[in-house]
Amino acid sequence: MSQISCPVCGRDDLVQKVSAIYQNETSIANTYTSTFDSSYGTNSSSNNSSSNYASNYNNSFTTTSHIQQSALAQRLSPPLPPTKPEEPSGCMTYASFLAILMITGVIGLVVWDKFNSPLLGIIAFIAVTWFWIRALTPRRRRAAEEEAAQYKAQLQQYEADWQAYQNRLNRWYQSYYCRRDGVMYVPGENFTIPI
Ligand SMILES: [Zn+2]
Repeated sequence: MSQISCPVCGRDDLVQKVSAIYQNETSIANTYTSTFDSSYGTNSSSNNSSSNYASNYNNSFTTTSHIQQSALAQRLSPPLPPTKPEEPSGCMTYASFLAILMITGVIGLVVWDKFNSPLLGIIAFIAVTWFWIRALTPRRRRAAEEEAAQYKAQLQQYEADWQAYQNRLNRWYQSYYCRRDGVMYVPGENFTIPI
């Protein structure tokens, strides 16, 4: 029994490091497809890809990149990192700013038209703008504070998730796979994961 022996069969002849299997059995392949027209187009690409990026369908040559992976490599994929929360912008959205500007503008124009005075229109515009600023500033501040608190909580969760991810990734790098029994394990632990 060696240090990396499989806990099921007790042997290491069919044992390989999980990260090595994953790297050996994953590759990126480019295929070049020539197309005479859409109805006579040939597609030489194989189907065992997990993702497919095609560019330039109209050109006579198309390059397609495939990630080619064995079924085993797919099942032995490393853990995925958590997604980082988005920082709040702290600004009013463009759409609501535009809506307020439009309403204020219309009020100014209506006053201008009603009293036949551009000066009154401008005064109305300034007065309504001032009203909006007075009315919206505290609300905006509260919303920004709420967003900041929410972001802080998300960031804390993200840091915890990141730590958990690092631990899972470390375990992944320590893991071995026995091809005889189809199990994944960390040597020294009496615990296997069927793959
Ligand atoms: Zn085994």
